[in-house]
Amino acid sequence: MDANSLTYGFIGLGNMGAPMAGRLLDAGLAVHVTDRDPAAVRRLAERGASGHGDIASVAGAADVVFLSLPDGAAVEQVLSQQQGLAAAGRARCVVDLSTIGPDAARRAHAVLAPQGIEYVDAPVSGGPTGAQRGTLAIMVACPRPRYDRLHGVLSHFGTPFHLGSDAGQAQVMKLANNLLSATAVAITAEAMALGVKAGLDPSTMIEVINAGSGRNSATVDKFPKQVLTGQFNVGFAARLAHKDVRLCLQEAERRGIPMMVGAAVKEMLVMTNALCGPQADYAEVARVVENFAGVQIRAAPG
Ligand code: NAD
Repeated sequence: MDANSLTYGFIGLGNMGAPMAGRLLDAGLAVHVTDRDPAAVRRLAERGASGHGDIASVAGAADVVFLSLPDGAAVEQVLSQQQGLAAAGRARCVVDLSTIGPDAARRAHAVLAPQGIEYVDAPVSGGPTGAQRGTLAIMVACPRPRYDRLHGVLSHFGTPFHLGSDAGQAQVMKLANNLLSATAVAITAEAMALGVKAGLDPSTMIEVINAGSGRNSATVDKFPKQVLTGQFNVGFAARLAHKDVRLCLQEAERRGIPMMVGAAVKEMLVMTNALCGPQADYAEVARVVENFAGVQIRAAPG
């Protein structure tokens, strides 16, 4: 069936889900949404979505249901609700954009397959800005024919990549990506704190690094926009970044791969939550290093 004639559902309208659902609406697609936060549903309804109070009514109205939920426990909870997806009768495919790790993805597949619902493992990378602009990387694991059918609608979010047929394969890709992203944030904080303490100007440091070999996703984006400005609002909770690195280390351990750098990065994320609280933003990893170093990595005013 033509992707434009299908009806879509979206469960989880947070930092990522809201702008992604918004892109489907902007493309003129019919989108049925829900979230446990009614205010999030109202905001999408104001943009033209059909708002629902529960998951079953979304699944009853949509052919393809997207999930953008915090973790595996939330996905499991949504999929296992008694009045859930299968009971509702219409949805035949669940595309899970959440980062939940390979084990949880395989469990989700195992829950839905006997109900005749296809589970598509499809985590994304690129943050809320990428979600708004439609420039995300979408990592997809599902049988190729399903991937080909979904390609058009996924393209509204960014660039899809097919990683394999089995649920969990895209999760491994995503965890490897986020290990790199978190490591870049942590090590950039250390390098920047050193320079600032030695009297260097942080804005000049960022310029030099980005013209040189230390350039990375934290120096290009997160530090200049969120740390040097003092905004600390990447729109990705440090708690979720910790989940990602923890899941990555679990997978590495299972496969007998030591990850000493990854283990240190995970502890940095634990410290960020301990220092800044459960709502801490990803960029606040820098505050941990700032605390130890006794400096602030901020641009000079003006
Ligand atoms: P978020 O916390 O901002 O949003 C999650 C949303 O899910 C919230 O609106 C919450 O109310 C809703 N929710 C939670 N449990 C629910 C349930 N049982 N039923 C219905 N709604 C429920 O998280 P986010 O930053 O949007 O991330 C979503 C997923 O995408 C996570 O798995 C995250 O790791 C991943 N991710 C995030 C980013 C980012 O930069 N924020 C980037 C890539 C991937």
